[in-house]
Amino acid sequence: MPATGTGTGMTSPLEGPPHMRVAVVGAGFSGLISTLAMLRVGARVDLYEEHRRVGYPPHCTGLVSEWVVDMIGRPARSSILAWYPGLELRVNGKATWIEPKGGVYKLDRVRLEEEMLGEAESQGARILLGARVSRATPDGTVHTPGGGERYDLVLLADGAHGALHRTLGISHTPKKVTGLNAHYTTGPSPQGIIVDFTPSLHKDLFAWILRVQDTVLAGTGGPPASARRLLERVERAYGLEGRNTIYGGTVLLGPPAPRPWRGKVVVIGDAAGLTKPLTGGGLYPSTQAATHAARLVDNGAPPVDAWRRSVSRVAALLRRQYRVAEALRRDPRLLEETIAALESSGLARGLAGKIDYDRHDRLPLEVVSRPLKGARFLAQLAYRHPRGLLRALARVLAPGWA
Ligand SMILES: Cc1cc2nc3c(=O)[nH]c(=O)nc-3n(C[C@H](O)[C@H](O)[C@H](O)COP(=O)(O)OP(=O)(O)OC[C@H]3O[C@@H](n4cnc5c(N)ncnc54)[C@H](O)[C@@H]3O)c2cc1C
Repeated sequence: MPATGTGTGMTSPLEGPPHMRVAVVGAGFSGLISTLAMLRVGARVDLYEEHRRVGYPPHCTGLVSEWVVDMIGRPARSSILAWYPGLELRVNGKATWIEPKGGVYKLDRVRLEEEMLGEAESQGARILLGARVSRATPDGTVHTPGGGERYDLVLLADGAHGALHRTLGISHTPKKVTGLNAHYTTGPSPQGIIVDFTPSLHKDLFAWILRVQDTVLAGTGGPPASARRLLERVERAYGLEGRNTIYGGTVLLGPPAPRPWRGKVVVIGDAAGLTKPLTGGGLYPSTQAATHAARLVDNGAPPVDAWRRSVSRVAALLRRQYRVAEALRRDPRLLEETIAALESSGLARGLAGKIDYDRHDRLPLEVVSRPLKGARFLAQLAYRHPRGLLRALARVLAPGWA
């Protein structure tokens, strides 16, 4: 871990390329993690944020893997509210218990972004709060009402609703739902996180229930008009009482935007659809892209090229996950039988400590690398839902044909 106390393991600011000027537009999570990563390889970073405060109002549940906590470093560690050893996957009364490698962390998302901003400032970033960017052009110019400034690289992290990436012609249409969170004084006390795929409790996502200190946090997702009604169903199903404020926002379920860059401007985070298609989680893909890009820059790659390569790499991974997520969404019975087969084959227990919470896309690889339990799992799934398994394999392996 570097002396700065943050965790991407890059060289100190003094060792990197001396004159690289980077603008980051948007101080949400992806803008902040990218700022920290670029500072660490010696770039001079200007961070533009239209609001005067970061992280606020809260919208995100803040569940991440140990890898993400390690990569963010000190700001993440000082924002930890809870840790869970595993997840109980449920659907229509069937259930299995999964223990990801390193467990799952619940972060205080407002505090996280405040801490990351403080870290960026202490490492020399020029922080421009209340600075609305009106345009970012492919030649690397960032325009504000005060005038234009030219950069070697512009990282555009203006979020799912940002207008700037659209003005550059990067306007993809990912699948999206409205996700809602609420805290309750009374409810269940699960050992880990309950992830309930029962169709009546969500639409295209799942319901989640977890204990956070002395409250129970629950949430769900669905179309904007019915998200609230779905949350009320979760409340009834889990006996949740004493609700505090409801908060949430748009959850993007993929696929990511193709080639999200124009000249020196590279679009990142939610603005580029860099979210995990099964859960809508955006912290892992942004951390992955920033860490990888910084490593390339550190090894001498030109910064624009490094970011394009990193975003492409993460997007390719997410596109593959999107096919799996869609296969499961289109056939709820497949998900139900997968959960049942994970439990009855013993594979769920066999995978304990093997897969990172943010890397559920590695499940097929883990299935193959455990020949006995993996074969038992596939045989049980094929027996329970043969057509579903075949359709899913076709969708994943030959998406154009299926
Ligand atoms: C209900 C819910 C639950 C979630 N749970 C999880 C979870 O458990 N784990 C996980 O990993 N992810 C989760 N996510 C997703 C995660 O919150 C997002 O992927 C992430 O916050 C996106 O960060 P971002 O920086 O890309 O975008 P944003 O957070 O939207 O930030 C964009 C920033 O750009 C600024 N901006 C926009 N336009 C301009 C402009 N013109 N000039 C200057 N500034 C501008 C905005 O003010 C904003 O601060 C959840 C999301 C929701 C809605």
